[in-house]
Amino acid sequence: MTAPDLSWRRRGACAGDPDAMDAMFPEGVGVYVTNAYRTAAARWCHGCPVRLECLRYGVAAERTEAGRHGVWGGLSPVERANPELVATRLALLESQRARRRVVMAVGGEGGT
Ligand code: SF4
Repeated sequence: MTAPDLSWRRRGACAGDPDAMDAMFPEGVGVYVTNAYRTAAARWCHGCPVRLECLRYGVAAERTEAGRHGVWGGLSPVERANPELVATRLALLESQRARRRVVMAVGGEGGT
């Protein structure tokens, strides 16, 4: 089995920010600290260019690794336990990504 490609993490809004890691992966708290997770997600994840990759990775990783913890792709552990919410968020992020590709292909928002 090959190791997953995690190069996208370098482009994350939280990359290299120790405050982000402390906020998104707090020590000694349960998965239900939703306000803390929501605050972290709002501060770093909103508008993050790799949110799609991050959510995909987080959902896949928690199926194989120990437990569900932290913020991935802007969703808290409790939110990621809801398959419908995850599917809806992934579809939205994929749609946004596809739209950005089209906009770039035609030369930006003002392109013709
Ligand atoms: S979506 Fe959030 S947790 Fe994931 S890389 Fe971006 S800022 Fe970090």
